Order: sequence, then C-alpha cells, then structure tokens
Amino acid sequence: MEYAELGRTGIKISRIGIGTWQWGSSSWGYGKEYTEEDLRQAFETAIEYGINFIDTAEMYGGGKSEELIGEFMEGRREEVIVASKVSPNHLTYRGVLKAFECSSIRLRTDYIDLYYVHWPNPLIPMKWTAKAFLELLEQGKIRAIGVSNFSLKRMIKFNELVGNQLAANQVEYNLLHREPEKDLLPYCLEHGITLVAYSPLAKGAVLGKYNEKSLPKDFWRRLSTIFTPVNMRRLRPLINTIKEIADNYGVKPVNVVLRYLIDKGAIPIIGVKRKSHVEDLVLTFDFNMTSDERKLLEEKLDSLRLVRWRAYPWVIKRVIKP
Ligand code: NAP
Repeated sequence: MEYAELGRTGIKISRIGIGTWQWGSSSWGYGKEYTEEDLRQAFETAIEYGINFIDTAEMYGGGKSEELIGEFMEGRREEVIVASKVSPNHLTYRGVLKAFECSSIRLRTDYIDLYYVHWPNPLIPMKWTAKAFLELLEQGKIRAIGVSNFSLKRMIKFNELVGNQLAANQVEYNLLHREPEKDLLPYCLEHGITLVAYSPLAKGAVLGKYNEKSLPKDFWRRLSTIFTPVNMRRLRPLINTIKEIADNYGVKPVNVVLRYLIDKGAIPIIGVKRKSHVEDLVLTFDFNMTSDERKLLEEKLDSLRLVRWRAYPWVIKRVIKP
C-alpha cells in the first residue's frame, strides 16, 4: 500500500480509502445483496492490506454505518484512520458538538481522526460551525478538520475561520465528473489540503459491469442520471478503452480508473460491499499508466455526450394521475 499525509497534519493515510455509504443502507441493497458478515470481511481485508482510511457519516444508514465500523474497530482502533461527517442540519455550534458525541458513541471511540462538514448549509453562519470544530480540535476529540461538497470559494472562507488548519475537502471526482480538476484540485495540491474523491468509480458506471440491458436495481442508481440505457450505450467506447488499458497490464478496469485519479493527486474512497471489492483494489499500485494512455482516455472522455437528465416513470405516473 502507498500512503500520503492527510493535509499537513502528519497523519498517514492510505492512498485508497474505503467508503461506507452502502454499509447498513437498504437503499443500496444492504440485507439483501450483501450482509453484515460481508462488510466485516471487507473491513478486515482492508486493514490486512494496509488500507487504513475509512470514511463514514452520521447520515449513512441512519447511523448504522458508524455502528458497524464501531463494532469492527473493537480492539484495533489504532490501526484505523476514521473519518466521519456532521450533517448540514446540525451545523450550529451546539449541533456540531451534539452530533460529534452521538457519532463517537456509535463508533465506540472517544476521538474521530477526521471530522467533516458533510454539506454546506447557507442558512447557518459558517463561523458557528468553525467555532465548534476548533473546540473539538483543541480538546483532542478530533485530529483533523475537513469539509465536503464545498466550492473553492467556500472552502477558502472556512479554512480562514479555522486558522488555516483545514486538512481535506471531499468532493465528487471521477472520470465522468472532472470539474475538480479545473480549480479545486490545483488549489488543494498547492496549499496542502487533501482532495478526497467520492464516487470515484462513478458508482460502477465506467467498469463495464452494467449495460443498457442490465442496469443496477438499487434505489440510488435507479435515481442516477448516468444509469440510463442511452448513457450506458454512449459509455461503451470509454469502457472499451479502459478495458484495453487494464488488459495491457493484467489488471481490472477498477484499477485503471483509480490510477487515473491517484495520478492527479486525489485520494479516492471506494464504496465497497464485500471482500472481493477490496481485494481488487490493491492491484492499483502494481502498474503505471503511460502519458499516451492517459491522453487516449481523456480524448474518449472529451468526446462523450451524456444525457444529464432522466425521466422517472413513477413521477410521470403521479403527474398524469395525481
Ligand atoms: P463508488 O465508490 O464510485 O461506487 C460504489 C459502487 O461500485 C459499489 O456500490 C459497488 O456496486 C461498486 N464497486 C465497489 N468496489 C468495486 C470493485 N472493486 N469492483 C467493481 N465494482 C465495485 O461510489 P460511492 O459509493 O457513491 O462513493 C464512495 C464513497 O464516497 C461512499 O461510500 C461514501 O463513503 C462517500 N461519498 C460521499 C459523499 C459526500 O457527499 N461526501 C457522497 C457520495 C459518496 P456493485 O458491485 O453493486 O456494482
């Protein structure tokens, strides 16, 4: 495993992290497609391979994700760098402190390594939130401060409010959503702020496991604008290129996709559901893409024309027959 420093904190995190939005969430198929035992094995395999960066949030599975991690971390707390997030409706000073206490109980720990603001809330002044975060940091209850889904401007403002101690910004970054490359990622790299990439696999859309005839059935991907027959068809040339590059190195498409993001300087966190998902990740460090391959990939991306809206049959039905 390769490691990086989290912001300028001195904390060592693996260059690949584990995302746990799926853990305990029936909307992702928890309890049907995968079980608590699958997740326990995924967690243990990650630690075995040296993947120490685990991402959760008070919101995931209504708290179940944190509870599962708390259970799995029992007796091995020091081996894990755990990141959690306070929800946007809890961003008042008291709200943050209360949310932290609840998360730390669910996680069975008295400190959280990286604590994020999950989403900005324009109705709550950022200085209230920042005050609570600074207090938690000074008391050693959190080891690093993060934000998520913050634009560059908002992130700079929050960083000022926490005395330039911001360690990370977690945003959507994948082959189908490369906006962070414009200004956020270069700024973060220059200023020692870790850019954590969420949905790095575009929720599995670019791996070739789904197509127009076989679409994922879970709630979140049925809602997504990417998993439509038309987009699945349009993604085919990109998926073929990813597969060709993967075949050249004897790795899987997931490794090519992650290598691209890591080479750009981001730390991807992958939403895994089972041990085999984690096992696949480690090959990412066994090869290097050439600049020609990266260029080829980018050419395919630039020529993609995806439809960024979708019709929801159940909504249409309601409109027609209220
Ligand atoms: P993702 O990591 O791009 O995709 C996850 C999906 O990809 C899984 O559900 C799984 O589905 C498939 N997958 C996982 N590992 C795989 C592997 N090795 N090979 C092939 N397929 C694999 O998307 P995400 O879950 O949205 O994002 C990752 C994490 O980022 C989340 O778990 C969460 O921690 C975080 N996140 C944060 C925010 C935020 O607002 N801060 C928002 C979204 C996500 P199937 O196997 O069923 O296809």
